[in-house]
Amino acid sequence: MSNKVPHYMIIGGGITGLSAAFYLKKQLETDSGDSPFRISVVEKSPSFGGKIHTIERDGFVIEKGPDSFLARKRPIIDLAYDLGMENELTGTNPKAKKTYIVRGRKLHRMPPGLVLGIPTQMTPFMKTGLISPLGKLRAAMDLIKPKRDVTADESLGHFLERRLGKEVLERIVEPLLAGIYAGDTYKLSLKSTFPQFRAMEQKKRSLILGMMASRKNVSEESAHLPAAVRNSVFVTFKRGLQSLVNGLVDALSTVDLRAGVGVESVRRVEDGQTEVVFEDGQREIVDGVIVTTPTYQAARLLAELPAASKLAKIDYISVANVIMAFDRKDIPFELDASGFLVPKHEGYTITACTLTSAKWLHAAPEGKVLLRCYIGRSGEQEWPAWSDEQLISKARHDIGDLLGITAEPGFVEVTRLMHSMPQYPVGHLEEIADFKKELSSAMPRVLVTGAGFHGVGLPDCIRQGKEAANQLASLVLR
Ligand code: FAD
Repeated sequence: MSNKVPHYMIIGGGITGLSAAFYLKKQLETDSGDSPFRISVVEKSPSFGGKIHTIERDGFVIEKGPDSFLARKRPIIDLAYDLGMENELTGTNPKAKKTYIVRGRKLHRMPPGLVLGIPTQMTPFMKTGLISPLGKLRAAMDLIKPKRDVTADESLGHFLERRLGKEVLERIVEPLLAGIYAGDTYKLSLKSTFPQFRAMEQKKRSLILGMMASRKNVSEESAHLPAAVRNSVFVTFKRGLQSLVNGLVDALSTVDLRAGVGVESVRRVEDGQTEVVFEDGQREIVDGVIVTTPTYQAARLLAELPAASKLAKIDYISVANVIMAFDRKDIPFELDASGFLVPKHEGYTITACTLTSAKWLHAAPEGKVLLRCYIGRSGEQEWPAWSDEQLISKARHDIGDLLGITAEPGFVEVTRLMHSMPQYPVGHLEEIADFKKELSSAMPRVLVTGAGFHGVGLPDCIRQGKEAANQLASLVLR
């Protein structure tokens, strides 16, 4: 080995990559004494943040990618504290807590007490018009049905159908969970998406009883939150999620941040070192790498590794959103809900609509309203062939029909997020474990992580970035 300063490279500057850089720097500063080191973050697009993209327009704060995160998930709150940004967190508007679901071309209020679509209060669930009496009876059978002792993975859809029945799955749980994965529940892995459901069945026999028991810990779960957001299930940053990205970029001022630089491949060379080949043909030898790109890109970068084909197989769904601004006077209803969900087969193009300015009070100026319509999910992937005008016209048709909004929007923002939502297939955990085993024996100082692996939510991405950083630090410091 030469006596040059060790150089570690993070490929991909989304939230996973930036968090990995932040925690790697922190760890090396703590553990390597005065020994110098160098960290680079290499991002293909012209700016950092990946899927996170906030813009400000005419006084509106507009999220084109993710808009918030689950408050009970620690890693993002911890990161906010680490960056001194905890006072910038904000919760949802307490006056807009309702959510609606479309059924038979009408909006029905989601019964209170649903957690991830699972009833935790039986009275409102039994009263809802969303589910037929037989469907309710079938869901209540979860309380007495025995648990199934299976260790193998199964699909989320099969699991929920066998616990709660097809009606609750199709009319409530699937549209709700589709907002997270845009996926087909019969293809998504239970173990990789909602392992807690399985644990609840194993522990309490019933999913409903398990979910009720987990609600008892809610106040403990929010103890880590700043007081101002303690009562909110979802949290974001007052100036948008981009401020978290900016906070990370500022904290990485001594790190070599390179935007607009794509990586072509990552290869093992002599002395256990790694060569990074860039898209412009340049090459660099480094002492450790963390790849945080989507898995189809990671598979391309590591194509020399036979197990990379396992990553290439993970499907990604494309989604679009159409964001529209209106005057309050053009909205013919009370803004007391965060939005509504549209199950498959209801005859609409949009899959959900967030009443953004009702959900987040910082998102729009006084007297204005911001709506965000989502398009695209598994099985509904024809939309990329449509023009922006077609996307806008379909979204306007749907909100006209469902909300009675016919006014011309003040402005519209269309965002296309191609191949953006990873779909963890049944058996995903085992495939990833096999891939990582082969990678660590072929290239021990190359780690691969991010949304395509163990959780798509922002807190999960931060956790994975931090775990990879700690792993790399322990590999290089031993
Ligand atoms: P990415 O953000 O995809 O970052 C990977 C980076 O790698 C990209 O910047 C890319 O340009 C770069 N890259 C790719 N190839 C190369 C290469 N060859 N060389 C160099 N760089 C490369 N999560 C929530 O918690 N809450 C939400 O409200 C929420 N809403 C969402 C809404 C939408 C529409 C989408 C698509 C996702 C949403 N998510 C949400 C999920 C969450 O936003 C993502 O899972 C997360 O941002 C992914 O972060 P990442 O860093 O792993 O990947």
